[in-house]
Amino acid sequence: MNPIPIYKRVLLKVSGEALMGNRDYGLDTDTVNAIASDVRDVVAMGVEVCLVIGGGNIFRGVAGAAAGMDRAQADYMGMLATVMNALGMQSALEKKNVPTRVQSAIPMESVCEPYIRRRAMRHMEKGRVVIFAAGTGNPFFTTDTAAALRAAEMNCDAMLKGTQVDGVYSADPRKVSNAERYEELTYLDVLARDLNVMDASAISLSRENHLPIIVFNIHAPGAFAAVMRGEGRFTRIT
Ligand code: UDP
Repeated sequence: MNPIPIYKRVLLKVSGEALMGNRDYGLDTDTVNAIASDVRDVVAMGVEVCLVIGGGNIFRGVAGAAAGMDRAQADYMGMLATVMNALGMQSALEKKNVPTRVQSAIPMESVCEPYIRRRAMRHMEKGRVVIFAAGTGNPFFTTDTAAALRAAEMNCDAMLKGTQVDGVYSADPRKVSNAERYEELTYLDVLARDLNVMDASAISLSRENHLPIIVFNIHAPGAFAAVMRGEGRFTRIT
């Protein structure tokens, strides 16, 4: 086992749904705590970590629009949902003595810091986990795109996408038993085959900035740390 991490600074994208556990809505404390433990272990390896957390466990703009709401208004609600998740994750990390800062793309100064790139970098250099909340701050975007944007801004060595399975498959392996699992893909493979990894703008932004994307199972204990050592099961997109 190689204890030395192969990455210096990474961004982990966790979807809101990944925080639900077996619930239909909201946050499952055990699940949030389990992810926080994995983040703590990676920080202990000396890796600088920042997080982007989605909001789909609480509210999605497209669902609001489908129900008749103004899309931009609904998207702002979705962004506020990501702030709630960010605060939940901050609380879980701090209970584990991991210094953490939340920075929101929509300023709300009595709750968290506003997003300031250079300040976020300084936090990470000091070993603090920075959670980027409120996505990009703009409607019509997703937290996948926010993750690619922040990872590029923070000069991260890789963006990790924590999912429900251990990599990218040709089809959902939980539904299609002979789905093929990929070890390596290119950005163009993902776009051309319309593989369900991240949305197209996140893939394009990563490609333009030569940001590797690593897809792994967020629910497998220790998987995040294993990826940091270059071990375990994951799909690498370059
Ligand atoms: N959202 C947005 N702009 C952003 C990021 C997110 O408007 O830059 C809104 C959008 O409505 C989205 C919701 O926030 O549906 C929650 O984010 P997302 O769907 O990406 O969360 P995830 O699927 O990762 O849980």
